[in-house]
Amino acid sequence: MAAAAGFGSNTYRNGAHRSSLKADGKSLAANPSFKSSSSGASSSASSSFKSRSLQFRKSSPAALGGGNGAAKDSGGVLGRVRVAVRLRPRNAEELVADADFADCVELQPELKRLKLRKNNWDTDTYEFDEVFTEAASQKRVYEVVAKPVVESVLEGYNGTVMAYGQTGTGKTYTLGKLGEEDTAARGIMVRAMEDILGDISLETDSLSVSYLQLYMETIQDLLDPSNDNISIVEDPKTGDVSLPGASLVEVRDQQSFLELLRIGEAHRFAANTKLNTESSRSHAILMVNVKRYLKEKDPVLTMENGSNSHSAKTFKAPIIRKGKLVVVDLAGSERIDKSGSEGHTLEEAKSINLSLSALGKCINALAENSAHVPVRDSKLTRLLRDSFGGTARTSLVITIGPSPRHRGETMSTIMFGQRAMKVENMLKLKEEFDYKSLSRRLELQLDKLIAEHERQQKASDDEIERIQAESEMRIAETERKYADALEKERMKYQKEYMESIKKIEEQLVGDQRKHDSDSATVAHNDSYSNGEVSSISALEEVANLKKLLEKETILKKAAEEELTNHKRQLYQSKLMEASATSEILKLHKLLEDESRQKEKLEGDIALLQSQLFQLSFDADERRRQLDRAGSGNDPNDLDCLTSQVKNSQLSDSENGEKASVAKLFEQVGLHKILSLLEADDADVRIHAVKVVANLAAEEANQQKIVETGGLMSLLNLLRSSDDETIHRVAAGAIANLAMNETNQELIMAQGGIRLLSTTAANAGDPQTLRMVAGAIANLCGNDKLQTMLRGEGGIKALLGMVHCGHPDVLAQVARGIANFAKCESRSSAQGTKTGRSLLIEDGALPWIVQNANNEASAIRRHIELSLCHLAQHEVNAKDMISGGALWELVRISRDCSREDIRTLARRSLASSSTFKAELRRLRMDY
Ligand code: ADP
Ligand code: MG
Repeated sequence: MAAAAGFGSNTYRNGAHRSSLKADGKSLAANPSFKSSSSGASSSASSSFKSRSLQFRKSSPAALGGGNGAAKDSGGVLGRVRVAVRLRPRNAEELVADADFADCVELQPELKRLKLRKNNWDTDTYEFDEVFTEAASQKRVYEVVAKPVVESVLEGYNGTVMAYGQTGTGKTYTLGKLGEEDTAARGIMVRAMEDILGDISLETDSLSVSYLQLYMETIQDLLDPSNDNISIVEDPKTGDVSLPGASLVEVRDQQSFLELLRIGEAHRFAANTKLNTESSRSHAILMVNVKRYLKEKDPVLTMENGSNSHSAKTFKAPIIRKGKLVVVDLAGSERIDKSGSEGHTLEEAKSINLSLSALGKCINALAENSAHVPVRDSKLTRLLRDSFGGTARTSLVITIGPSPRHRGETMSTIMFGQRAMKVENMLKLKEEFDYKSLSRRLELQLDKLIAEHERQQKASDDEIERIQAESEMRIAETERKYADALEKERMKYQKEYMESIKKIEEQLVGDQRKHDSDSATVAHNDSYSNGEVSSISALEEVANLKKLLEKETILKKAAEEELTNHKRQLYQSKLMEASATSEILKLHKLLEDESRQKEKLEGDIALLQSQLFQLSFDADERRRQLDRAGSGNDPNDLDCLTSQVKNSQLSDSENGEKASVAKLFEQVGLHKILSLLEADDADVRIHAVKVVANLAAEEANQQKIVETGGLMSLLNLLRSSDDETIHRVAAGAIANLAMNETNQELIMAQGGIRLLSTTAANAGDPQTLRMVAGAIANLCGNDKLQTMLRGEGGIKALLGMVHCGHPDVLAQVARGIANFAKCESRSSAQGTKTGRSLLIEDGALPWIVQNANNEASAIRRHIELSLCHLAQHEVNAKDMISGGALWELVRISRDCSREDIRTLARRSLASSSTFKAELRRLRMDY
């Protein structure tokens, strides 16, 4: 197949070159099916195992792990399954029993060839990625077979090392040997763990193992044998398999790992067979999970001290890489009847054969690139779905013995290895964002802000209450004092007044009495003396009265002074009252400031939430870009921008994450998010429009967004903003909303076509053009809008975008044209449209013809459909002939890879008399 042929130039020999040759080997070099390897030295063998000169995949063959097509298409690098063969030395029994016979195989390690003796004069020759003789050391076997896999696992890929072969040929020796007595004998499991422990850092990374046995289609935990029916769980989205029931033991050092292997080995079901007393009839599976945090170049920024300027901050989720190493020590590959172990039922024989033969069938299907790979037929193939045809780097060791008595088994082992060499895997980095920790961090920050805000609020409320109470108390006190003083004063004056009245009355009574007695005396004495006396007493009286009057005046003055004094006091207390009032006013202002501050904080919180929301979106987009890095310009999902955004949401690793985003959306509210579209801060606007775009990708949100005025706001952004990012994201959101017929009419009614055309004219980034073209392409699919769309320059706008040349943009343009042509064809058929196609009127034909055979299938497919639609109406035929479209149609009718399009093209050609006449004129048989 094409992808494998890409390896022809390097040292890999792909697949098996099988040939039956004379044993002399002379004809071997002459046989063209053997590509000469660049070097015969053993070091090149290891390089063929290790080589990183991997290519991006162009096509995806059926895969053992290929449950869903999307996973395969999303990038990765090719990595063929590497296969080495290892020959066990003759054992004691063979040394004796086979003493007179030659080995059934002959190895040529420097040529990486193995010859299997058919009879005395004939051999079959096979090539492998590596050929290990009976003298090969455990160290070299590890380094060539397993080390490249272990290194990949440490880099974040999945890896598999598996041994296959007849019982007693050295599978367990190769993989599971502990080497306690002789360190040189250590097997692959032990050496792999040493390398892993040497590379990771136990502070930040984590390392855990499970050790399982698969026996008679039952999975048993070798680290906890009571756990003897573990089920396989498959993630429907990613196709990843896991065994949640198996114990997962953290490994801190080599010693504890060896202990686990020992425990596992003790528990392993070992059946004694005729061939070897240590052989096992179960499959043993060691799973090593390595989880590493990627060292960050620029550290995550956090918001310290509740700083309010969020816009400059960015949050990044830490990246984790999870590599999984699976080491599989398979059960013996021999037919059970031959191993002849007693005491086991036919049922067991069938079950053991079931998993192994299912594995063989899957590998055959993969090697032949067959459409159906029967992964689900056994537990073993389900467990290994990532190892063959999946995303793991896989190495297989096939072990054989030298004895001619087992030639048949050896032959079948070799054939298994040869087929496995044809299996292509698609290595994929198991990298993900640690959203949990980012979200935890953001939530912590949010909680801190909320708590701080609540504290401030409470403190200011308390303060206001305290000041209010104090001023009220002071006012009451002043009022009371004033009233007391007034009352006292009044009493005092009243008393003094009464006293002075009393005195004057007494005086008057005394004077009257004196006057009466004096007048009696005058009556008895002479008139002279009488007159003299009375005038003297009157003078006295006057003087007395004067004195009294003076005293009265003084008293009155004093009272007046007292009164002014009180008036002053009253004035002062009035002043105090006024100042208390102004204090209250001040407090009111303070309260207002406080609530303004609160509103701002709430805004900040909303913004933070929207940033969180946006971040998940950005991160997903980044991950998608990462995933798509390999797929180049073949965006199969171009039909629908929505699907990308949707996928991004679906691919959220944790459901909890999604729930929390939904929760945030609920908390923030669509109104608030839409209002942020008009925020003063450009960053906020960008964030907000990204959030809206993200929401618009969900069909469930679309109606709500339109009802809340989101569509208007987005169109307004195209009109008013001159930021390209905003244009790009807003156009993307509009494209998503334009999936729905009602929205399409709304967009048109709002002058959407002109806005999108202007946006395209000013765009510099092909992605902006892609969004705009996507939006117009959606509008093109509406039967009712055809005339209007064309009238407002929609077709011209589409054609104007092709000059950018970016395949994503071209694909959207092609889709738009195909949509338009389809609607036109429909209305022509219904008789609602007459005359030439508007596409031809607007000059689209030259571009269509030019791209009819575009190498990007997405573009080509839409153009082919457009041509078929146009060809269905005789009015277009003349233009199509003069524009060269007829040739393209003929080509499509013959070569198009899709049968339905081929048929459509053929039918269109056959139904047009103009086309038929032209073809006749050109003497073309049709
Ligand atoms: P299997 O797991 O395939 O049934 P074992 O690994 O148990 O086979 O090997 C069977 C016997 O052969 C064991 O005694 C083992 O020590 C021995 N053996 C296997 N491979 C080698 C080798 N390459 N060198 C030395 N002894 C080996
Ligand atoms: Mg074994």
